[in-house]
Amino acid sequence: MKFTYIFGPVFSGRLGHSLGLDLLGERICSMDCLYCEVGKTDELTLDRKPYVPADYLLNELRQWRDAHSDNLPDYVTLGGSGEPCLNSELDTIIKGCKQILPSVPVAVLTNSTLICDPDVQNALLEADAVLPSLDSLVDKEFAKLNRPCGGVSAAAIADCLIQFSKKYSGKIFLEILLSQGINDSQENLTLLKEYVTQLQPHRVDVTTLSRPGAFSLAKAVDSNVRKVWQDALAECITRFDANGSTSHQHIAKENTQAAAEAQPATDNPPDLHDQDRLAAKQRVLESLTRRPQTPSQLAIALTLPLSIVIGVLDILENEGTIYKSEPDRTATLNTDEPFYSCQ
Ligand code: SF4
Repeated sequence: MKFTYIFGPVFSGRLGHSLGLDLLGERICSMDCLYCEVGKTDELTLDRKPYVPADYLLNELRQWRDAHSDNLPDYVTLGGSGEPCLNSELDTIIKGCKQILPSVPVAVLTNSTLICDPDVQNALLEADAVLPSLDSLVDKEFAKLNRPCGGVSAAAIADCLIQFSKKYSGKIFLEILLSQGINDSQENLTLLKEYVTQLQPHRVDVTTLSRPGAFSLAKAVDSNVRKVWQDALAECITRFDANGSTSHQHIAKENTQAAAEAQPATDNPPDLHDQDRLAAKQRVLESLTRRPQTPSQLAIALTLPLSIVIGVLDILENEGTIYKSEPDRTATLNTDEPFYSCQ
């Protein structure tokens, strides 16, 4: 069955097996980030509308559940090809996801630009995890890297996120993406350390580009720089969770657990029928249209044997449908495997 607004599950380093919901359907966003992996923003806006109506999206999710009830994801993640909080039916969508898949937590990826809107805050209160990004608290860096709609300021976002965190009982995983020479300044690190100390998110994830972004100006930082930032910011989190461990300890635990759990399906290549191979090819292609991935990530996300995934990737690459980029050891995953992508 082919879905228009549901993709995956894909393997996410932060959320495990994540079933993605695209709430925009087009390249509509309130930012036009230099590093955006889905390309240049076509419609730069702060206007909230039912870009993908809740009814349509939730109907697809019901169909997906009926076909996959034996293989549920770790998270349903609201995101897509732009800023999901721009969808004015966000509230109905989050509540609908929880009704349709009651055992699966709902996460929302957001660039934080709409967090000052009370309707957005109220909708997000229903989610189990919110993953806001805030790449720089230095105005000129924020403007250069994220290129937001007019009137959006990093300082206002930072304040509203603090307000939101005080009434939110779910988890906040703050993301900071570093781009070399743009927002990796000492000034930004100092401001973000003060900010993380105040916000006390459950986790902070410092990432960098895993492949070239929409504009060639954006470049990944060195893995040592990313580690220095990751450690410095994680140390600012002192909250204790219910188990008595700090979020810093929790990161290590989650990563270890994820690594242990995230094994590709058994790698004895079964003798696939043509029909099954075609289905595998279709699933790999659909997954890659959403985001670039390595063979192992695809194998884990799609629960397919790695050898089948590699075989399918070879076919698709020879057909010219996908392309392979070199392993990027500066990337968050620090992988030796190549990334495959449709773009
Ligand atoms: S906020 Fe996200 S979707 Fe929007 S331009 Fe930036 S990276 Fe792309």
